[in-house]
Amino acid sequence: MAPIAIINDLDQSHRLFESVVVHANDAILITEAEPLDSPGPRIVYANPAFTRMTGYSLEEVLGRSPRLLQGPLSGSEAPALIRAALQAWKPIEIELINYRKDGEPFWVQLSITPVASESGWYTHWISVQREITERKEREETAARLRVIALQNEALSTEIADRKLIQAEMTRVAFHDGLTGLRNRVYFMDSLRTTLIQSHAGGRYRACVLYIDLDDFKGINDTLGHRVGDLLLIEIAQRIKRWVRDHDILARLGGDEFTVLMGDVEDTKQMHAIAQHLLHAIREPVILAGTKLRVTASIGLCAIEERSLVAEDVLRDADLAMYAAKRRGGGQCVVYDERMHAAALADLQIKLELAKALEQEEFEVFYQPFVDTKHGTIGGMEALIRWNHPTRGLLAPHEFIPIAEGTGLIVELGMWVLRQACKDSLVMQQNSQWKLCLSVNVSSRQLEEPHFVLCLSALLSETGMDANALMLEITESVFLKDAGSVGEIFKDIRSLGVKIAFDDFGTGYSSLNYLRKFPIDTLKIDQAFVREMGHDPVTASIVETIIKLAQTLGMSVSAEGIETEEEVHVLRSYGCNRVQGYLYSGPIRLQEILEMLPKPDPFHSTARSTD
Ligand code: C2E
Ligand code: MG
Ligand code: MG
Repeated sequence: MAPIAIINDLDQSHRLFESVVVHANDAILITEAEPLDSPGPRIVYANPAFTRMTGYSLEEVLGRSPRLLQGPLSGSEAPALIRAALQAWKPIEIELINYRKDGEPFWVQLSITPVASESGWYTHWISVQREITERKEREETAARLRVIALQNEALSTEIADRKLIQAEMTRVAFHDGLTGLRNRVYFMDSLRTTLIQSHAGGRYRACVLYIDLDDFKGINDTLGHRVGDLLLIEIAQRIKRWVRDHDILARLGGDEFTVLMGDVEDTKQMHAIAQHLLHAIREPVILAGTKLRVTASIGLCAIEERSLVAEDVLRDADLAMYAAKRRGGGQCVVYDERMHAAALADLQIKLELAKALEQEEFEVFYQPFVDTKHGTIGGMEALIRWNHPTRGLLAPHEFIPIAEGTGLIVELGMWVLRQACKDSLVMQQNSQWKLCLSVNVSSRQLEEPHFVLCLSALLSETGMDANALMLEITESVFLKDAGSVGEIFKDIRSLGVKIAFDDFGTGYSSLNYLRKFPIDTLKIDQAFVREMGHDPVTASIVETIIKLAQTLGMSVSAEGIETEEEVHVLRSYGCNRVQGYLYSGPIRLQEILEMLPKPDPFHSTARSTD
């Protein structure tokens, strides 16, 4: 305190204190000194170290109680001691288990101190948290070893004693506590040894498989960490069944598993093993009464003569796994040198995306829907494009998945909605037909707590007719908590906005969703349209989907129409709307305006084509 006390300049002293808090390694929370009982002390400040430690941003915790950090493993004793100390306005120092935002428990050393104003009233609490998980784990291991040592003492055989302790120490040091598989340390050691052997010459061939479950986070968030842990144990067992005794199977952490396979003939054989693993993982699993079907992405990296550094081999396998995820998951991709360039390009896009919105580099294109009955334009689908300053016009697949990963899709999606609503009004004024606007909405956007509120505000702000707006949602939305999705759908529809199920038929359990959720339109995926002409089975699937939708009172549209023949068949099946290059690809607003039939000056209101 002394060096600060001699600073007379209040501003400077304030800045110094602020800098200390902002740059501290310990997480610091400041809460208002209200009684602890409901609604509890409210957080008024959290420093960046708090965000790093817990995963919660400042905005997410402002106004909330620090109790949000507690969970089942926090127990009742530590929180009760804290409450008692706070009620007596006494500082307290205690160790307890808190939870990060992603649900992971961790140990902290917590000290809470009341702050009094000059008049002597307590106004705030300052809590400082330091993570001590590693220390606690070491203590627990030591305690376990002590117990083993004591048990062995009873046997009074010193040798057995030492052997057991050593075995336990080795087990703890080289195994994963949850699945019992080898851990990262052991895996990397083995990989290093393999690399040395492969350089010693001979026809030694080996490979690394990097396995990562698809959307494991979704399962954890929806069904809880206990089910998540059980799933990891089950998956570990399934992988184990497919690897040979001399292969090294490890869990690196989270949902990431690696296999080091020696003695493999060629990449074909490696690929075949990966296919077996994918298949085994995909088999349904029943946990806590819930039937789950998970898929995994696998990256395969063959160890070649040029492979020198274990970390590089693992990184290459990881890059291949990432490529498998980008292709939709559930598959194995073999490492290729070009993946470095692709990963760098993705990183570049990630960095540029944030600025692109500010610099107004995005543009909404529109693709018309055609009414199969009247042959008129019934509406438009908004499809985003990025006018990239150096790479030209970029299609959504080059940046939407990245924006979804970084969370920027929330802001970007709202921007598309606002722009499309504004443009839609311009189109409507320039058309004699009543037009409906479809906007794609990512499942990440629907997870935002205020999505429906923002949508409602946006409708009022732009003057868009809610009944003329349709949100296109894909099946990925249902991977999250189905209960809350149902509520969000109801809220969206209560505004008058419609919901379309985009890319219908590409997922695996769509029929169940149709029964459960209020959906207005099914949009048949273009893959079906493409196949329909060559494959009678696909054609009858399409016909059945359309009949099913009609039975459920939904309308049906189809995308990717490129031939007259396709329209003819779809019309005969009863499909209401079609969209595709046959009519027009996505085009700029100006071109759309030129395409629309001008309003009849004698009839000011737009004619509906329904
Ligand atoms: P989608 O919503 O299923 O859109 C259909 C895609 O098929 C569009 O690609 C469209 O240009 C293309 N397409 C249309 N007619 C034909 C055809 O006759 N033949 C073929 N081969 N393709 C056709 P685009 O514009 O590249 O968009 C791709 C995807 O990106 C969209 O699929 C949608 O899922 C996503 N997307 C586009 N804009 C947005 C957006 O604003 N927000 C979000 N979240 N996703 C968007
Ligand atoms: Mg769409
Ligand atoms: Mg689609």
